[in-house]
Amino acid sequence: MANYSEVFKELAKSFAVANIRFPNLKAVVLAQWMLESGRGHSMLAIKHLNFGGLKWRDEMQGFATPVDYTDFANEGDMYCGFNSVDAFINGYWHFLGRSPYAGWEAHANDPEAFINFIATIYCPSNEDYSENVLSLIPEAVALLQQSGEVAVFSSVSTTSRYKVRFYSGDYLVRQKAANADKCICYVEHHFNSAGPTANYALVVVAKNASLTTINWGMRYAKAVASLLGTAVFAPASPWPGVAIGGIDGRGNGNLLYAEMPAILLEPLFVSNPKQAAQLKQATWQEALAKILADSICEFFPDGGLVAFSIGHKGKTSNPTDCGAAVHGGGYECEYAELVLKKAATLLEREAC
Ligand SMILES: [Zn+2]
Repeated sequence: MANYSEVFKELAKSFAVANIRFPNLKAVVLAQWMLESGRGHSMLAIKHLNFGGLKWRDEMQGFATPVDYTDFANEGDMYCGFNSVDAFINGYWHFLGRSPYAGWEAHANDPEAFINFIATIYCPSNEDYSENVLSLIPEAVALLQQSGEVAVFSSVSTTSRYKVRFYSGDYLVRQKAANADKCICYVEHHFNSAGPTANYALVVVAKNASLTTINWGMRYAKAVASLLGTAVFAPASPWPGVAIGGIDGRGNGNLLYAEMPAILLEPLFVSNPKQAAQLKQATWQEALAKILADSICEFFPDGGLVAFSIGHKGKTSNPTDCGAAVHGGGYECEYAELVLKKAATLLEREAC
């Protein structure tokens, strides 16, 4: 075993079993602490249980105490002092929760993307910082395993490119939250309703939609129509399947404020008995989910945080709304939720 200080071994033991929000980041974060603290031998680590070289910031009040410390370059400054290894673990995440690191969660599904993102803020003077941290990951993995980490750990090497988050509240609130999280794309799922024979596939995009958004919508609508043996919505525009700004403006406001490509899906009509019957079967739900997941993988190959919004469900202003009645029983939002959850599973397993 590499030469760790006693406090660093204690830190690794506690961190190995700690319940943290993004367990797949444990190895990269422990690797960062190895680097920052010289495997726990820095005086800052030994005296103040600060393994991250965290300088004092006012927002750390309540999580740490300010301590005077002179670093290896003989520069004195105020740093964070912690009274236990657990206080340090908590304090580290609190430190990242400060405004300079806003948006880091969008990279939380990928340890490399995570460290690349925070490195430029954490250690702007060192271009090799994230590379140095990444090179310590195998050692960090081994240390975590020796320290009692069992279950979560295997996820490190098989991290998915995608993480999905469901947004609720009123539609504007959802869009703003997705903006704040820097989501790569936004999908709101509905089903259409009209007469019993209506049967086209439609995607609504906002009036301000980009060409990428329109192409993504066309791609989805076309694939759904071919799955269901239906047609795509025929607009008075050159974009088959897509209603820019919504039909008579419907759906425009659900997407208009999203700062990333955003689409509203109306793949089929729940008022159509045949389509409603299909929707009630798991295999058709899965097929719809697969088309959505595939379209996201195709249009956003770099991965990131995906925003899902279940149409109608969870609105503050109208909490009981569940959308249109489905022929034969049930409501639109129940099925939108089923399909989106299946799509989320596919994306997070990168089964696309
Ligand atoms: Zn709807």
